[in-house]
Amino acid sequence: MSGRVGLVLLSLLPIVIVLVAGVVLLILRSGGGDEPTPGLTAEAVLVSPEGEAVGAVRFRQTAAGVLVLAQVNGLAPGGHAFIIHEVGACTPDFAAAGDHFDPTGADHGFIHEAWQGDDSGGHGGDLPNIYAASDGSARADFFTDGVTLDSGPRHSLFDEDGSAIIVHERPDTYGEGEADTGARVACGVIRRP
Ligand SMILES: [Zn+2]
Repeated sequence: MSGRVGLVLLSLLPIVIVLVAGVVLLILRSGGGDEPTPGLTAEAVLVSPEGEAVGAVRFRQTAAGVLVLAQVNGLAPGGHAFIIHEVGACTPDFAAAGDHFDPTGADHGFIHEAWQGDDSGGHGGDLPNIYAASDGSARADFFTDGVTLDSGPRHSLFDEDGSAIIVHERPDTYGEGEADTGARVACGVIRRP
């Protein structure tokens, strides 16, 4: 009797395997909406507080994160904080962009004293400083996994109110000590092509 039951179960095994494989495939495909779509792009035209175009930032999604390519002109020579902010607005003034883009409720800065290898390792929108040459131009490439160009994940730049990128007057200290990055000297709403 038990031998026959075993035989029946054995004959069902291929069907069970196919069913399990199918479910796994479905789960992988839906990916919880968190699988990046390599090749997605976005761009932000940077403007000065007077509304003059002073540069552009290009974004490109890869499987591991987002490549950020920046070209800015008209800056004071030296370091400037370069940070993605939580609202896709630069008008009526740059305060409209809100605070740093912070999808995980983290502390600011890559080297904040609270950082213990958990979610406190900086805001999703925190990026390294850019440095302007004596002619006021700056060129910088970054790679970050703190944001995504896909819609859906909580670190998406295209959430309900969008995102903007801002160049600040002074360099960021990355969370070490008192940070005062001064005025917002350039702002650009991040848009899909
Ligand atoms: Zn921050």
